[in-house]
Amino acid sequence: VLPIMDLKPFIREIPDFPKPGILFRDITTLLQNPAGLRATIELFEEKCSHLNPDYIVGMESRGFIFGAPLAYRMNIGFVPVRKPGKLPAAVHSVEYELEYGTDTLEMHQDAVQPGSRILIVDDLIATGGTAGATAKLVQQIGCELVGCAFLIELKELQGRDRLPQVPIVTLVEY
Ligand code: 5GP
Repeated sequence: VLPIMDLKPFIREIPDFPKPGILFRDITTLLQNPAGLRATIELFEEKCSHLNPDYIVGMESRGFIFGAPLAYRMNIGFVPVRKPGKLPAAVHSVEYELEYGTDTLEMHQDAVQPGSRILIVDDLIATGGTAGATAKLVQQIGCELVGCAFLIELKELQGRDRLPQVPIVTLVEY
């Protein structure tokens, strides 16, 4: 068991990014710090191992940064979920609502076997739109979603209400 480590000091706040009125949680300051990066991956591992996933599914682009090293540590595969038009082979797609309009996420059709146990990993859950859409994609292809893990949860946006009833792991809450 790791000593309790507060990751908040590694996360920087940038006001009015990407739009006026938004307080952006910048994780680049955590990534550039060896202790911060190591503690993040090790805490994820400690809190997610019991979910026993077969694959980690991570969303473009900050989900890749945490999902791939976590998959390496857990000795399982990593599967990227990407914005439209980026993946070269046949894809499954899911469309989801944004504040204005819609967006789409894609995953390779042959990336996982139906019935596989999937853990979704991203840096942050805000409204839950991105993770909720990824959960739909995972379930549409006949996989079992066993959990979702986020470095940061913005609690007041209640994003977890848009996720299926699976365990949700978070390391830092605002
Ligand atoms: P949601 O779909 O839950 O509203 O937004 C979550 C997605 O937007 C995540 O993929 C996350 O990377 C990105 N995001 C939204 N706000 C922030 C923020 O303040 N900091 C970071 N690092 N990512 C954010």
